Amino acid sequence: HSAAIGASPPSNPNPNGTGDTPTRSGKSSSLQEQRRALPIALGREKLIARIRQNDVIVLLGETGSGKTTQVPQYILESGIAGTGMVAVTQPRRVAATSLAARVAAEQTVKVGTTVGYSVRFDERSGPDTRIKYLTDGMIVRELLSDPILSRYSVIIVDEAHERTLRTDLLLASLKGIQKYRSQPSDAKGKGRASLLNPLKIIIMSATLDAEKFSKFFNNAPVEYIQGRQHPVQIFHSAEGQSDYLTSALRVFFQVHTDQGPGDVLIFLPGQDDIESLEKSIQLYANRLPHKSMEVVICPMYAAQAAGQNSKVFNAAPPNTRKCILATNIAETSITIPGVKYVIDTGKCKEKQYLARETGGGFDTLLTRDITKSSANQRAGRAGREGSGLCFRLYTEAAYNNMAVSAEPEIRRCSLTSSVLQLKCLGQDFQELDFMDKPDYDSVVSAYKSLWLLGALNNSKELTPTGRQMAAFPLDPVYARIVLASKEYNCAPEIVEIVSVLSASSKLFVDISDQRDSAAESRRKFRHPTGDHLTILAVVKAYQEIALAENKAGRREWCRRHFLNERALLEARDIRDQLKLTCARFGISFDEGNSALLQPDGVTYKQTMGHTTVKIHPSSALSDRKHPAIIFNELVYTNQVYARGVSSIPKSFFMSIPTLNQRHS
Ligand code: ADP
Ligand code: MG
Repeated sequence: HSAAIGASPPSNPNPNGTGDTPTRSGKSSSLQEQRRALPIALGREKLIARIRQNDVIVLLGETGSGKTTQVPQYILESGIAGTGMVAVTQPRRVAATSLAARVAAEQTVKVGTTVGYSVRFDERSGPDTRIKYLTDGMIVRELLSDPILSRYSVIIVDEAHERTLRTDLLLASLKGIQKYRSQPSDAKGKGRASLLNPLKIIIMSATLDAEKFSKFFNNAPVEYIQGRQHPVQIFHSAEGQSDYLTSALRVFFQVHTDQGPGDVLIFLPGQDDIESLEKSIQLYANRLPHKSMEVVICPMYAAQAAGQNSKVFNAAPPNTRKCILATNIAETSITIPGVKYVIDTGKCKEKQYLARETGGGFDTLLTRDITKSSANQRAGRAGREGSGLCFRLYTEAAYNNMAVSAEPEIRRCSLTSSVLQLKCLGQDFQELDFMDKPDYDSVVSAYKSLWLLGALNNSKELTPTGRQMAAFPLDPVYARIVLASKEYNCAPEIVEIVSVLSASSKLFVDISDQRDSAAESRRKFRHPTGDHLTILAVVKAYQEIALAENKAGRREWCRRHFLNERALLEARDIRDQLKLTCARFGISFDEGNSALLQPDGVTYKQTMGHTTVKIHPSSALSDRKHPAIIFNELVYTNQVYARGVSSIPKSFFMSIPTLNQRHS
C-alpha cells in the first residue's frame, strides 16, 4: 500500500529557485544565504510586525522552515527585545545545545557570547548573552531566583506540542508573569518598576493544537509559516513485525542496494536500540561489495554530549550514504538535511508514572507505540528537499489504531519535583491554571513524598530542608540524600553515587550475549552491601585510571570492564555542579573522612584523597589497630593525625580497588 502525505510544494517554495538546500548543494553558499533561503524568510517583515503588535502569538510551521533558529534572530535584529534577553525553551538538552551552536555560527559569534545556552549541569552564557536556548526545566529553575523572569523581554516556548511537564508548568507561570509585568509601573512597587518591560510570549511548534494554545492565552493570534513539503510515498508492512531491529536492518539494506542517492533516517525508541542497530549495520556494510556506496552511520539521541553529533549535519561525502539512527528527537526538534528515506519502527520511549501500582510512585521509561501525529511527522522528514519514501515497520491497521496524539506529561509523570519548586515560589500546584489538570492521585502522591522527605511539614508548608532540596538540580529524593550526607559525613561519596544515578546514560553496558564475561570483568568492583557502593567502587577506580592513563587508555579500560565511559564523564560534570550547590549549604568536600589501615599496621590511607594519616594520640582508639576508621577532622603537626575517630567494619570498603589490585 502507498499513500502520499503532505501538500505538494508551493509554487515558489524557495526564493533561490531550487528545491535543494544550500547545505547539500555545496560549500559556495554562505550561512547568510542559507538563512535567506529558509521558508520563514519570505514572511520575515510580516512576522516581525505581528510580534511587535501582540503580547502573545502562536506560530506554526513545518519542521525545518526556520522557526527555532530564525525567530530569535529576527527579534534581536529588529530590536523588539530592547535591552532584555530572548529565551528559547526546548524539551531536550541536545536540541538546546546544538541549536545554540547553529545560531551562534549564523551570527558569527562564539557560543556563550551573544548566543548561549543553559541546560542542566551545563551552562554557556554570559553578560553579553541576548539569545539563550534553554531546556524548559532550566527556565522553570530560573523562576526560583527570578520569579518574574525580569531579565527576559521575550520568551519563546518551542516544541509546545510535546506538552512536557516543564512546558506546561512554564505556560501556567508565564500567564501570571505577563499579567504582572503589564501592570502600570507604579502598581509593581517602587525600585523595580523602571527596570521592567512587558513580556512577549511566542508559542511555537510544527504540529500543534493551535486553537487550544490560543484559547489558553485569551485568543492570541495564530500565525502560519508556509512550509516546503514534498510528497512522501508511504509503505506499510504487510504483517506485524515482532522484531523491529531486524526489520529495520533488512529494510535499510533494501533501500541501500535498490534506491538512488539520498540519506536514510531510521526512528528508534532509544539509545540502546540505536547502539545495537549501529553495530549490525556496520557489520553488514563492511561486507558489501567494493563498488557499492559506502555507509556512514550517525547516531542521534538525547543523552549525547554537545557537539558529539555534529557529523549528522554535514553532507555525506561523494558515493556515501548517511544513515541516521535517531530517537523522536529528529521528529521535530532537529532537522537533518539530505534525508530522502525514512524507516519508522513505530516505537518511542515515554515516561510513565506508576503512582498506584508501586505505592510510592515511580517514573519509568517504557517503550511503546507512537501516535498518529508522530508517525506523520516522521514520514514528513523524507519530504524536506524533494519527494521521498517512508517505510513503516507496522501495518496500516496498526497505524489506524494509533492514538491521535500523546497525553500531556502532566497527566502521566511524577509531580514531586514540580510541587516542590512551586512551593518555593509560594504557590500551590492545585491553584495554578494549567492547560490540562493533573491527575488527583499523582498530586496527592507528590505531597505525600515531599512530606515523607521532610520537605513539607504537617500543614503542607515548605520546611527549610525543602527549600535546600529545591536548590539541587536533582530528583527530590536524591537531593534529600545529599543533604543527609552532611550529617553522616559522607557527602563526597554520596555525591559521587548520586551523580552516576542522575546521569542520563547507564553506567553498566549490557550486551545480552556477553552478560557472563561482563559480570566476570566487573567482579572486582562488586561490593557486599550492594549496587550503590559498587557504583562508588567503579567511580573510584575510574578516577585512578584517569590519573594514570591517556584518553585511549581510559576508553580501553572502560571497554574491558563493560562500562559506559559517557556515563562516567557525565557523572563527573554533574558531580562538579553538585559540589557548588553543596558549598552553598556548608557541605564540605575538603577532606575525605574515612581511611584504611596500611600494611605497616600504623598508618591509614584516606579513601578519598591520597594522604596517609595516623590516629591522634588523644583518641580512645590510638592504642590498637583498626582495619578501617572514620574521623571528624585532620590535625596537621609534624604528622597528619585523624581526630574524633571511630572504627568501622572494613567490609564497608572491601572492594574499592586500590592501584595495586588494579594491575593484578
Ligand atoms: P524549525 O524550527 O522550523 O523546525 P529550524 O530553525 O530548527 O527549523 O531549522 C532551520 C534549518 O536550519 C533546518 O532546515 C536545518 O537545515 C538548518 N539547521 C538547523 N540546525 C542546524 C545545525 N545544527 N547544523 C546545520 N544546519 C542546521
Ligand atoms: Mg524547531
